[in-house]
Amino acid sequence: MGSSKLLEGYIPTFDSEVYKRLLDKKAIPIAKTTLDELAMGGTGSSGHLGKTFNPWDESKTRMIGGSSCGSAAACAAGIVPYSIGSDTGDSVRKPASYSALVGFKPTWGRISRYGLFTFAASLDTVAYFTRNVKDSALLLNVLAGHDEKDTTSSSSPLEDYKKLEDKKYNLTIIKEIYDDLKDETIKKAFEELVKGLKQKGYKINTVSIGFNLAKAIYSCYYILSSAEATSNNANLDGIRFGSNKEAETYEEMLFKVRTEGFSDRIRRRFVIGSISLLEENQEEIYLRALRCRRVIVDTFNKILESSDAIILPASPTIAPLFDGDVPKKSFNKDAKVSDNYLAFANLGGYPSITLPLGFEQGMPFGVNLTSHHFTEAKLLKIAQIVENTTGLKDLSKK
Ligand code: GLN
Repeated sequence: MGSSKLLEGYIPTFDSEVYKRLLDKKAIPIAKTTLDELAMGGTGSSGHLGKTFNPWDESKTRMIGGSSCGSAAACAAGIVPYSIGSDTGDSVRKPASYSALVGFKPTWGRISRYGLFTFAASLDTVAYFTRNVKDSALLLNVLAGHDEKDTTSSSSPLEDYKKLEDKKYNLTIIKEIYDDLKDETIKKAFEELVKGLKQKGYKINTVSIGFNLAKAIYSCYYILSSAEATSNNANLDGIRFGSNKEAETYEEMLFKVRTEGFSDRIRRRFVIGSISLLEENQEEIYLRALRCRRVIVDTFNKILESSDAIILPASPTIAPLFDGDVPKKSFNKDAKVSDNYLAFANLGGYPSITLPLGFEQGMPFGVNLTSHHFTEAKLLKIAQIVENTTGLKDLSKK
């Protein structure tokens, strides 16, 4: 459960709303897949089953990314036409980039999270992989909509998401994120796409948000997600969840259960979360991150008020190697802006979609589009045009 050793053998006592809605439409469940432990991480290597390899890489040295690594691999290997994951920072949209899939997260509140294992409630969304944009739209028709069991689920009106309308949209590139890209093949493919869209009558402009703000996205996301995760997962204590251990005190039990049950990565996150929430640190760390979130979201709201969507390469590289370019530390101070910006869509709660853009050394890379709240129909239409322009869809590597 949650790919954590701490929850080994745990069987959930109820079904998630997403699962129920799929079964109601006669979906055939095939399997539960692995993920990075408790949905934290981006390497697809910290779950209880170990590494998940990228089906596009025959040498089995490259990751598919995470945290929704198992879902991505099942879809990318052609085993299933779609698979479900969750996206708190980029956990569906980044693996999609590494595996030639469409990875979609809706507006926060659009799909019920009843039964979703919480990571950071203010950022979490149910998200999913498909192999083309139309399937993403079809799935949203099934999954979107209010659910009284989830108090954060929205009642805002739904649309028929698969209806296509060919309008000429305005798209925006964020300068600091694009300028941070170094890979010439990815840049060239992106520039080709921009050219193709312009030929179709799209207007594409570039906006600057300042390097400091662009760089703040990941730090702000990291503090807030770690703080929320620490609080949300406080019930994994050996009494309510996790195996009971011999102990004299509650603290001792907590210590034993968590030391054995969690990987280093999770323990580090909970330490960072706890430090930022301590009364003496709250003002300096947690509340400061909250204020920073406000500035980031105000900036992106403003951009999305005058633009239909933000368009950028979804990742600055193809899928990294397991050994070599993976940072040893879970928080990397030198994290690249273009590698970690996707979390802005979670900080703002915007719908966001990654789809294939090209290939380098036989490995895929993707493009990402993000639009304003509850404009999924428009976002999917733009994505459809992007898909028509690149001609990349229905890709899998068996
Ligand atoms: N890789 C990011 C993290 O570890 C995103 C995780 C996610 O979206 N679930 O925080």
